[in-house]
Amino acid sequence: MRPLFIAGNWKMNPTTEADAVSLAEAVKEGVGQDHAVRVAVCPPSVFLHRLDTVLSNSPIGLGGQNMHPEPSGAYTGELSAGMLVDVGCTHVILGHSERRHGLGETDAFVNKKLLAALKAGLIPIVCIGETLEEREQGQTEAVVGDQLDGSLAGLDGDQMAGVVLAYEPVWAIGTGRTATPEQAQQVHAFIRSRLSERFSEAIASRVVIQYGGSVKPENARDLLARPDIDGALVGGASLKAADFLGIVEAAR
Ligand code: 13P
Repeated sequence: MRPLFIAGNWKMNPTTEADAVSLAEAVKEGVGQDHAVRVAVCPPSVFLHRLDTVLSNSPIGLGGQNMHPEPSGAYTGELSAGMLVDVGCTHVILGHSERRHGLGETDAFVNKKLLAALKAGLIPIVCIGETLEEREQGQTEAVVGDQLDGSLAGLDGDQMAGVVLAYEPVWAIGTGRTATPEQAQQVHAFIRSRLSERFSEAIASRVVIQYGGSVKPENARDLLARPDIDGALVGGASLKAADFLGIVEAAR
């Protein structure tokens, strides 16, 4: 059985460290020592160090929202996998659509980051997903398949088993328009079959595939009940502790 995994992608929120600490404290209190569901929060990088302290003695993972593939050097504004580990991170989000589409990140670049993240011992959460236009043109599987092939190039089966994938249809992110559980399950099953062909059925059955895109306490249970949906990557609803904890509760 794959453990369900709920992660909060706080994006560029909240705007002060004090608010970030309050949110993390509330999530910590709500999760308590419950290890039945894997939980992680991914705050803005400037708050990571402080939140590592806040989340001590808690099973909640701490993730960066991005990193650079190189370990150090002349890369203004970037940070490395080793730096994330050094401030207490266990996870890192890679290839989020807001970076792919807003900042021109390619599968090849995501792949470099992925290899560097694994080398540093971080659990990567690799995001993939089609735009509305691609879905309407019947391209969903072709697009997601290409993103998988490109982002996961050069990985062996053991490495793959430790990667978390997040299927985030771009049209469902921040729009309030969630994919139906059927739509999401269909793509998740496609992703797992692709992993099965590329690696093996045994490896594919171990990979945790989260769904992301307007997940809320009200729709989480139906999504998480589907056989290939192993958790959620939550944006907006992760900024209110009660909502995020409601989604964690739906995973129990
Ligand atoms: P929303 O939950 O706000 O739609 O964002 C999803 C997302 O992008 C998580 O990475």
